Amino acid sequence: MSSQENKSSGLAGARPTAAAIVDFHDRLAAAYGPQHWWPIQDPANPRFEILIGAVLTQHTAWTNVEIAIAALREAGSLTPEAMLAHDDLPALIRRAGPHRIKAERLRSLCRWFVERGGFAAIETLDTVTLCRELRSLHGIGPETADVIALYAFDRPRFVADAYAFRILERYGWWQGARRYERLRETIEAALGDDASAGFYDELHALIVAHAKQRCHKRAPDCGRCALAATCEYARAAGPA
Ligand code: SF4
Repeated sequence: MSSQENKSSGLAGARPTAAAIVDFHDRLAAAYGPQHWWPIQDPANPRFEILIGAVLTQHTAWTNVEIAIAALREAGSLTPEAMLAHDDLPALIRRAGPHRIKAERLRSLCRWFVERGGFAAIETLDTVTLCRELRSLHGIGPETADVIALYAFDRPRFVADAYAFRILERYGWWQGARRYERLRETIEAALGDDASAGFYDELHALIVAHAKQRCHKRAPDCGRCALAATCEYARAAGPA
């Protein structure tokens, strides 16, 4: 692929290699330590909580998600059957942003989960089918589907969220239109089939930590960044 084709497709001058992505991950891991995602409140039902949390966290701060999940748990509604049967689900999750819209999304997800036969049956789906079915549900886009596939079903998926685009654009691995699938496929193709779900799990969590702690939307803190030595943005800005 020529550099012009790379630019129009969103790629920067050079594709990231597996070794470069592992180095990127390792330096963030050294800076921030283990991230321990997904943050679970109820160890009795962790995987279902991930499904619910992935929907509740859309466009909402995580602290509000924790309040909504606590309300669901206290009401005994942290199961798909209980959520479908509840007569006022929006009231239970009202702290998690647009609660009526999210209640509809949760019901859609719970209906699919029950009709599909729960975790034991859904686990037998291949990753492409799993993500396609999730994306066919009301209000579940590629990012939420990949988060669920990664954290609830241990599937190796790169979450190409806005944080990833921001950091990888500055780092020099992405230019042009922010096309979710192109970035996901680029990173996954570079890493190859040997990359584990655990690696992707930590990579996404580290990218989120880095976006919040150093690579801010405005005024990135390049002077204290673990990636500065190889980041195009920092190189272009000159010595801190
Ligand atoms: S050096 Fe600056 S722009 Fe590059 S990743 Fe670090 S904080 Fe972001």
